[in-house]
Amino acid sequence: MFCYQCEQTAKGEGCTNVGVCGKQPDVAALQDLLIYAVKGLSLYAIEGRKVGVSDPEINKFTCEAVFSTLTNVDFDADRFVSLINEAVRLKDALKGKVSAAGGKVDFGEGPATFTPENSIDVDTAQGCNMSFRRTVLIEAGGFDERYGGTALLEETDAVLSVRKTGFTVRYTPYASLTHLALPTGGCRMPDEIADIYWYGHNSILLFFKHFPRHVFPVWCTVRIGKFLRDSVRMKSLQPFVTGLKSMFDGYRTYRTPKKSGGLPGSR
Ligand code: SF4
Repeated sequence: MFCYQCEQTAKGEGCTNVGVCGKQPDVAALQDLLIYAVKGLSLYAIEGRKVGVSDPEINKFTCEAVFSTLTNVDFDADRFVSLINEAVRLKDALKGKVSAAGGKVDFGEGPATFTPENSIDVDTAQGCNMSFRRTVLIEAGGFDERYGGTALLEETDAVLSVRKTGFTVRYTPYASLTHLALPTGGCRMPDEIADIYWYGHNSILLFFKHFPRHVFPVWCTVRIGKFLRDSVRMKSLQPFVTGLKSMFDGYRTYRTPKKSGGLPGSR
């Protein structure tokens, strides 16, 4: 996710793994998609006004939809799925009215033609709720417990491993899960240096497990650039030194045998 909507945003730059406000990546993605859908609706609304077509229901919906994405308004993912579908339904209806009135309805590919898929095949997944058939996950080798810290990228690794076995991975907006937030425990890494370390470590482990070696210089440069940026931001060499060490350690971990082929609930 990437969100820099409000003044709480992480490090003054943007919330990436999870929002400071508690916003989760799935909600951030759905909010982005809702704005995209509303852009499409608005294209027809603007053209409609030029030919005398204006729908109070659409005007009200547009205000409500945009307001729903503001900080801390509501983080219910199901609500955003409903709003996205409603935006598309209203857009399709408005398109017919605008066309009948002689207005422009030809906008080409983009928000104007956006229709959400019920589910789609995806290359990978990061930081999201996911489910596997147990036999498939076993065949793919299970979760790799060598990913350390908050196990960042462990889920990406699992998806890539499942795909290597020949299975597909599908995204669906309709699966839901109630996550009971706890005041302690869970995937939190309050120590930023430790966070930098495990990001570097896990990135390298993921790279050597799944990506072609010839793109390593690019992969490596991006990570080192991030560590440099962290050093400048924190006015300390520690993030850079820690980052470099983490990459060496990540490679060493890659050379060690995989642990147990962990399955959910096996820890
Ligand atoms: S709205 Fe939440 S996720 Fe977005 S920048 Fe503000 S704190 Fe971060």
